[in-house]
Amino acid sequence: MSDIVKKAYAREAETGFNYRTAMEEASRCLLCEDAPCSRDCPASTNPAKFIRSLRFKNIKGAAETIRENNPLGGCCAWICPYDRLCEKACSRVGIDRPIKIGSLQRFLIEEEERGKMDFIKAKPLCGKKVACIGSGPASLSCARQLAAEGVSVEIYECKASAGGILSHGITPTRLPQRVVDHDIELIKRLGVKFHFGEKISKENIDSLKDKFDAIFIGIGLWSSKKPDIKGKEFSGVEYALDFLERARSNTKSVVLNDDVVVIGGGNVAMDCVSTAKQLGAKNAVIVYRRSIEEAPADIDELKFVQSMGIPVITNFIPEEIKGSEGRVKGIRFRGRDGYSELLLNAQHIIFAIGQEQVSEFKDIKEKENIFIGGDAAHSSGATVVEAVAQGKASAVKILNYFKSLDSLCKTGGKV
Ligand code: SF4
Repeated sequence: MSDIVKKAYAREAETGFNYRTAMEEASRCLLCEDAPCSRDCPASTNPAKFIRSLRFKNIKGAAETIRENNPLGGCCAWICPYDRLCEKACSRVGIDRPIKIGSLQRFLIEEEERGKMDFIKAKPLCGKKVACIGSGPASLSCARQLAAEGVSVEIYECKASAGGILSHGITPTRLPQRVVDHDIELIKRLGVKFHFGEKISKENIDSLKDKFDAIFIGIGLWSSKKPDIKGKEFSGVEYALDFLERARSNTKSVVLNDDVVVIGGGNVAMDCVSTAKQLGAKNAVIVYRRSIEEAPADIDELKFVQSMGIPVITNFIPEEIKGSEGRVKGIRFRGRDGYSELLLNAQHIIFAIGQEQVSEFKDIKEKENIFIGGDAAHSSGATVVEAVAQGKASAVKILNYFKSLDSLCKTGGKV
């Protein structure tokens, strides 16, 4: 086990609930009617219902509620921005502090795995077949919902393993691979087939049209935004998703014994800087163009980075990368006030300033039997829980489409 994964488990031990502490936390729940926590979950995970079950010591029922409503209940338990969603809405906010919904969800999913619970059973095959392109959160969620309804689903993934951003673009400190694998394993048990290393493009998508009754395009945002800055061509300048994928795959050695500067203020930037530090960077620092209050990163991720002793410098905008003999040596920033200047030594600079959709599918629109979800439909880059919601919604649309086909058959094509 690599050091980075060991540290992920160390963090898990720090924040996880055990039976006693989970029960204590659940006992603080006010059992609200029309609970605001449940209203504010994009994927309709229904925390009020699972916490109520837990409070009455029904661990199985609580875990079942999560799994029924959220095909990626394990991943969401680790990476959901609770402080901006259900926990922010919790009625206890006005009294003392919100219920730790995320930690309770994590506890219950661990109980599910430990107890080998398997709640979702597929209905008998209905004769319809769907191809999902991409194996990220939207596709996995769409596939799970369809497979549970008896649809044959095959997922086409150009990489060698499933999960998309979950398996390749988030540091294991924040999301251990075993959590991703557990969610995917439950989906596989419903009969969903995976084709790895098969790239579906605009050119060969037609080959799927004959074999399947519907196609779901659920590919993610797989390109880091590139800044327009002098010196970006120097060796040692890298982009967030490339760096995280290298670090996560463990297939290539990532040795960082030097000064690393990460630029950005979101969770991906936090992932990069904490990963760089754990991989041996002598000095790792994060620089964000706006104030700490404006940073889009979750508060827990910011705190985690600061707990590692990593400086978070705010209100500085990168202006020029310095280098010699083709290698990066440092970076100059201009203060947001217009006159301050900051010069940092750097042998490795990682830009984590957002992702963009470079897919050839980006201009494709939903039509007939083509459905689109996740980041493929929303090029701004949704959270994982939003992608789950979109995958579920697309599955409903596909099932309605099949129903409309059946009614057309029954009426001889007349509606
Ligand atoms: S809003 Fe808070 S207190 Fe109310 S049901 Fe949800 S978790 Fe419990």
